[in-house]
Amino acid sequence: MTAPIRIAVIGLGKIAHDQHLPAIARSHQFDLVATVDRAGVSEGPTPFFPSIEALIASGIAVDAVAICTPPQVRHDIAQTALEQGWHVLLEKPPGATIAEVVALREAAQERKVTLFTAWHSRFAPAVEAAGAWLKGREMTRAKITWREDVRIWHPGQDWIWAPGGFGVFDPGINGLSIATSILPSPMFVVSSQLSFPANLCAPIAAQVSCRDRSGAPIELDFDFLQEGPQHWDIEVETTSGTLVLSKGGAELSVSEGALGEHDTRGEDLVGEYPGLYRRFAALVRAGVSEVDVSPMRLVADAFLRARIVQVEEFHE
Ligand code: NAP
Repeated sequence: MTAPIRIAVIGLGKIAHDQHLPAIARSHQFDLVATVDRAGVSEGPTPFFPSIEALIASGIAVDAVAICTPPQVRHDIAQTALEQGWHVLLEKPPGATIAEVVALREAAQERKVTLFTAWHSRFAPAVEAAGAWLKGREMTRAKITWREDVRIWHPGQDWIWAPGGFGVFDPGINGLSIATSILPSPMFVVSSQLSFPANLCAPIAAQVSCRDRSGAPIELDFDFLQEGPQHWDIEVETTSGTLVLSKGGAELSVSEGALGEHDTRGEDLVGEYPGLYRRFAALVRAGVSEVDVSPMRLVADAFLRARIVQVEEFHE
């Protein structure tokens, strides 16, 4: 039997507690050997360190790290880990800029270790079926709606509003990570309107027009002030039916004219992280990396094409 991969989790915030630690605990492929956070407390008896440098100095044997900090500090931690010869899982978005993720990919190649840009939404239960249904079809229009209440989902997360924090693209990039994996042809940004609160450095809403190679329009509607029902939906019209992938990729519904309606309902978001860790283990065992910046490139392009609108201040 292959030995478990000894992993340390770095950045013990919401996603580390909600998803990474439980997924690692349930996996036979990983052993949690340490946790790292600049503040915070130890996870039970697991050794705890205030920095990656302190973890290295401890001499604990580590094979891999999962970096769950905010994106702004991810590069330096990842680079330090790669220099140790450790495999690296990067939470989404994989960095604050594209160039730093590309630099990490090169560093991983040099060290012959695995770098994994972990787009968790791609592991949502209905995403694979959605991609299979769309394969070979001709898209005529798509809409990606990611509207959620920042006060509910991101309380106290000031880093989201700082430069490099992505603002409303922090959740919106999940929709883009799904779209870039299931749409039949590449998409690119045509125009963009980003709404920045007067007191903050990241957009609170984004209306972005994209198109695919054939000219089919793809509209992005991202909003952080959604009250009531929350929306994480992708709707794709094709010449042979319409697909709706909803609840962040958990539910799929397709209409195929005479063939009628089909529904697939999966588990909720909890199912994503076990799949993500299975993939990370497979990459490590195979000695390969998986580095995809395509969702991030669309966000960067939305900034490049942006008309910036200043809106009223936002306070939690
Ligand atoms: P969070 O709750 O703010 O947690 C981030 C954690 O990282 C905090 O404990 C923070 O400590 C720590 N940290 C910051 N700088 C550090 C450093 N230099 N070294 C070690 N630890 C450091 O944020 P989150 O919601 O977990 O999100 C983290 C990442 O996961 C983001 O990129 C986000 O997009 C992604 N993500 C989040 C969710 C979600 O539902 N929340 C879902 C999927 C992915 P302090 O508290 O001291 O700052």
